[in-house]
Amino acid sequence: MKKKHLKLKKKAWFILSLIIFIPIAIISFIKIKQDYEYKKTYEYRFLEQDYTKEEYNLLAKYFDDNKLEDLLNKDKDTLLLDFLKNDKFIIDNLDRYLNFYNKYRVGVDEVILNVNLNLDYDWYDEISEVDTSKDILMLVNKYNILPEDYEPDDLVSISVKYAWGSGNTIRKEAYEAFVKMWDDAYDKGIYLIINLGYRSYQEQEAVYNRLLNARNRKYADSISARPGHSEHQTGLALDIFEKSNSNTETFKDSEAYAWLKDNAYKYGFILRYTKENEGITGFNAEDWHYRYVGIKAAKEITEQNLTFEEYYFYNVK
Ligand SMILES: [Zn+2]
Repeated sequence: MKKKHLKLKKKAWFILSLIIFIPIAIISFIKIKQDYEYKKTYEYRFLEQDYTKEEYNLLAKYFDDNKLEDLLNKDKDTLLLDFLKNDKFIIDNLDRYLNFYNKYRVGVDEVILNVNLNLDYDWYDEISEVDTSKDILMLVNKYNILPEDYEPDDLVSISVKYAWGSGNTIRKEAYEAFVKMWDDAYDKGIYLIINLGYRSYQEQEAVYNRLLNARNRKYADSISARPGHSEHQTGLALDIFEKSNSNTETFKDSEAYAWLKDNAYKYGFILRYTKENEGITGFNAEDWHYRYVGIKAAKEITEQNLTFEEYYFYNVK
């Protein structure tokens, strides 16, 4: 009886250990298999190659297996990672970033800015049509052309009180902003005067062709925008001088220039072409050319010292 009891006890122990052992064996087996599978993954292989998990995730986000294999065959590509980590990075531009970097050896931020703004192309290369749906924030420059028949539908005449001669027009919203600005400048003893507002494609074409015929393309390009590439066709650009000084050479020394530089943004205008941003705008400095973009954008552009190209690319597009 005692023996039987002992036998039973032994059996119970045996069953109990099986109950404990089998799941452990199964779990261990699964674990080993998972480890084995994991070691075959790109994640594991990249971590082994000194990439961090975040870096691997970035690579996996942008690249297919072929490219990942390529990268694993090389040392850790820190330059590539610097591009991927930049918040302005655009995958479609990657080859252009690398070409630009190899050519100019400038920092990643500068490479990305230049390429994102198309500055790796020659002026008037790779032209797209202006997105006029952006309305007062539309971008017209050497890479963005307005159609021949584009004409704003809310042009209003500029009073001769504010402009040299009659016949100048401008979009209504810009005109209202200008009149407010004019009043405030006038209170400070400054008489602002507009030299040019809206200009049609055909008029721009005539101006450009005159310069072209007088000399050559290089000369014409240095002075005038090609037809479709002038901001004046938007009806949002104004050439603003002072009544007593409308001289392009000396306007920069005038009181009006200084006042506009400090105050124009409060009314929604920005000085569009400055000496320091010639490399981005593609136009020589024009101390008198103001563009209406609305108060919010003008404030941000002025406070952050941006070109309109940068602002457009990162905030509007
Ligand atoms: Zn102008």
